[in-house]
Amino acid sequence: MLGNYIKLTIRSRRSNILGLMTLLLLSVGILSCKESNNKTENNTQERPKVVITFLPVYLFTKAVTGDVADVEILVPPGTDIHDYQATPDNVKAIATANVLVKNGLGLEAFLTETVKNAKNTKLVEIDASTSIKVINDISPVEETNEKDHKYEHTAGNPHVWLDPVFAKQQVINIRDGLITADPGNKTTYEANAAAYIQELDNLNNEFRRTLQKTPNCTFITFHDAFPYMAKRYNLKQMAVVEIPEDQLSPADVQNAINAVKKYKVKALFSEPGIDNKLLTSLSQDLQLTVYPLNSLENGETNPQYYFQAMKDNLKNLATGCK
Ligand SMILES: [Zn+2]
Repeated sequence: MLGNYIKLTIRSRRSNILGLMTLLLLSVGILSCKESNNKTENNTQERPKVVITFLPVYLFTKAVTGDVADVEILVPPGTDIHDYQATPDNVKAIATANVLVKNGLGLEAFLTETVKNAKNTKLVEIDASTSIKVINDISPVEETNEKDHKYEHTAGNPHVWLDPVFAKQQVINIRDGLITADPGNKTTYEANAAAYIQELDNLNNEFRRTLQKTPNCTFITFHDAFPYMAKRYNLKQMAVVEIPEDQLSPADVQNAINAVKKYKVKALFSEPGIDNKLLTSLSQDLQLTVYPLNSLENGETNPQYYFQAMKDNLKNLATGCK
């Protein structure tokens, strides 16, 4: 009995030792886990995670960050930013981000609640439209009695990125915000921004040179996205609707007809890729050609896409205004 007891004690001592060793091994494991967690944190610090609300601001941010940051878009191209509803993935993306870049001017209506839900106290927010003077009026159209203007009395028309000069200001705002959030990559942000700004300056010169041949050209759009571009280059945009719709309403058509009757309208412009039968028959009735004009709310995610799309816009404006 006694022998058995002793054996048991030894055994239990042995298992105690085994237990201790297991504990030690576990601790080492936990420690090394901690270490690798620290490594991950350090990596995140080296490569900041930047989430951007939608395409134009994404293009500008990507141009400034180059390869030194992980960038992610919240509203995928092809989804309408104007009445966007946030997803749980958006909340997750913001929760784990270092920086959030938005266009501002009330365009990202979904954002306030989404940021609140993400509970990310370390998040740095960059408003790309800081210090840009907005156009508050809805572009002049011959109104019917529909009054559901979304930007009215809010922050003004948000489509500032379609004016290359304001686009430049947005790039500067994004650059400065990124430098504040991630000073370690200051030189990269400055160099990348300078190169992109140079291209924006060239684009602005090209717009000015080309469109000064057609001063006061009045055109109709089916998306109130071009008042800044029109103002910059001495054109007149008359927007029949604020946001592109799948189908024009009879009231939209009547607005267009009234505007054409009252003003010397040169051309109609609609978002590229929209095949609208009503618009085609309207253009036939009014004897005005419909040209594509890209608001850049949809398109490719390469920063150079901005210049490609804007040069197409310039070509179509010049042709339409001739
Ligand atoms: Zn828009």
